[in-house]
Amino acid sequence: DGLIWLDGEMVPWREAKVHVLTHTLHYGMGVFEGVRAYETPKGPAIFRLQDHTKRLFNSAKILGMDMPFSEDELNAAQLAVVKQNNLSSAYLRPMCFYGSEGMGLRADNLKTHVMVAAWEWPSYMGEENLSHGIRINTSSYTRHHVNITMCKAKANGNYMNSMLALQEALRNGYDEALLLDNEGYVAEGSGENIFVITNGELHTPELTSCLDGITRRTIIQFAEDLGITVKERRITRDEIYIADEAFFTGTAAEVMPIRELDGRSIGCGSRGPITEKLQSMYFDQVKGQREE
Ligand code: PLP
Repeated sequence: DGLIWLDGEMVPWREAKVHVLTHTLHYGMGVFEGVRAYETPKGPAIFRLQDHTKRLFNSAKILGMDMPFSEDELNAAQLAVVKQNNLSSAYLRPMCFYGSEGMGLRADNLKTHVMVAAWEWPSYMGEENLSHGIRINTSSYTRHHVNITMCKAKANGNYMNSMLALQEALRNGYDEALLLDNEGYVAEGSGENIFVITNGELHTPELTSCLDGITRRTIIQFAEDLGITVKERRITRDEIYIADEAFFTGTAAEVMPIRELDGRSIGCGSRGPITEKLQSMYFDQVKGQREE
């Protein structure tokens, strides 16, 4: 129970439904965000709210979807959903989708609907993994961002391979998948950006086949604050095997150490010291213990 913001109104959770002929359900053309609110000394605070809303609007623009609301209205909607559901911490899911006003591939005659839901969602991959790290495998599915949408759009249609990769990893007993790009370079996890630490430097794939993650930007900033050299470049899978440390970043996964890739133990085989430092800076910041 609770309230979901739908097209400008608060609707009871059970009534926030769509018709089976909802266009986005059939063709996957839609955009969404994953946002978190954390409990802070000043009450619940949505981390990087404006950045997430901006990315949602950019995603819609890239896909050519008309947005019937302003960024300010969407910011206010997200704050209202957290507040009116009395959530002290939450995962928020804003999404824009085409309705059931018409079928067929054309969408220019359809209305864009917008919704924001929020619920309590603790650690995505488990508290214990945050300190010990996860085991992943290289997926047989590749990350090829739909031609035109590239890395700036968080679009529903981009997720088929991510979901297949995660399904494959889970079935094979791993916690997450690593997707390579079309050329065989490291792209990202199913819903996370990846970083490796080698010789005290932080390396992450450049923005050609991974999402421009907001947690990624935050971690790059932290590393720069610490005086750690950051390089955005093409990374090969074997570089991860022999890296000192590796971790995933994402709003859901937060800062998640990777302890094993394809049966090779990475570094000390657990959370490394630089990962631990960046992770604690992240939690301090989202929980309002560290100035932005
Ligand atoms: N990569 C993909 C494919 C994602 O879905 C996400 C999640 O949003 C990320 C990376 C991490 O992005 P962010 O840190 O903005 O949550």
